[in-house]
Amino acid sequence: MGSTSFGIPEHRFGSNGEKMPVLGFGTAVFPPVGAEATKMAILQSIKLGYRHFDTAAKYGSEQPLGEAIQEALSIGLIQSRDELFITTKLWCGDAHGDLVVPALMRSLQNLKLEYLDLFLIHWPVSCKPGTYEFPIKEENFLPMDFSSVWAAMEECQRLNLTKSIGVSNFSCKKLTDILAIANIPPAVNQVEMNPMWQQKKLREFCRANGIFLTAYSPLGANGTFWGSDRVLECEVLKEIAKAKGKTAAQVSLRWIYEQGVGVIVKSFNGERMKQNLGIFDWSLDEDELKKIDELPQSRGVTGVAYTSKYGPFRTVEDIWDGEM
Ligand code: NAP
Repeated sequence: MGSTSFGIPEHRFGSNGEKMPVLGFGTAVFPPVGAEATKMAILQSIKLGYRHFDTAAKYGSEQPLGEAIQEALSIGLIQSRDELFITTKLWCGDAHGDLVVPALMRSLQNLKLEYLDLFLIHWPVSCKPGTYEFPIKEENFLPMDFSSVWAAMEECQRLNLTKSIGVSNFSCKKLTDILAIANIPPAVNQVEMNPMWQQKKLREFCRANGIFLTAYSPLGANGTFWGSDRVLECEVLKEIAKAKGKTAAQVSLRWIYEQGVGVIVKSFNGERMKQNLGIFDWSLDEDELKKIDELPQSRGVTGVAYTSKYGPFRTVEDIWDGEM
């Protein structure tokens, strides 16, 4: 494995050997902080050494990320856009065969970029064309036509609008459906993963099928409406952290890295940005790994579609096929 000039290991994938820094910077922010604060946080993270950025059409962070990249180039923090790995995602309202390429073009315009490194289907569901509300209203929710949507994703790669394509929030069953029709298999599946939701089955499936799993909400998304403090307040993680002179956050990030999985972590706080980078020069021992392995499991993020029948979000089974 190679690494960036700041020592973040890089994962190589795809037929062209694309290099993805295994630690990426998240830009989904709650509560919202505004475009200028987002841009400034991204600039600060580039100064500290982050080179991989995760955004989505839905986050409202494509434009500030694009502006931060322009400024990083103009003040010489980076010499070329090629030093960065940029991921964005297709929203459910654009997850229709004829809307995928135009949606990517819009994202590129927001980002002021000529190409993406990775374009992901955000969720394995569609909603009424051109609707962008969140959560998705029950009456606007539609099953995704995988054949036409994945064919259009492949077209994005063929047109060199993105170097790689992948998915997010896909279960083993849904990955199997995509693999059955794909000419270009998904390079990445980005899902919730942390010590409290370890994704053992999905990890195994992705490894066996050459799909690089990337973890979002690696700290349990503490402080957001989709997350909780169950990772950062976990007694087992806190004990391990104390014994090693690290924080529970670092133990969680290091554990994910040791599972051979990529990590997307969000902090807009300079000290915590630095802390989250400090996970590559130490390791967890066998006993610590065993204790983490035995932690009780619970999913944090359940879904995106609103339904009055089941509560604020559509049931896990609709998205996750009832899988652990
Ligand atoms: P996360 O990275 O697990 O947690 C972020 C929260 O933890 C923020 O409130 C942050 O606050 C705090 N934090 C960060 N570092 C910390 C540290 N060292 N100690 C204590 N608290 C710390 O959650 P996430 O934002 O859900 O996930 C990361 C990224 O993954 C997102 O930003 C987004 O890019 C992506 N994502 C993707 C999906 C998807 O559906 N594909 C879903 C969710 C997220 P401060 O900023 O104040 O430090």
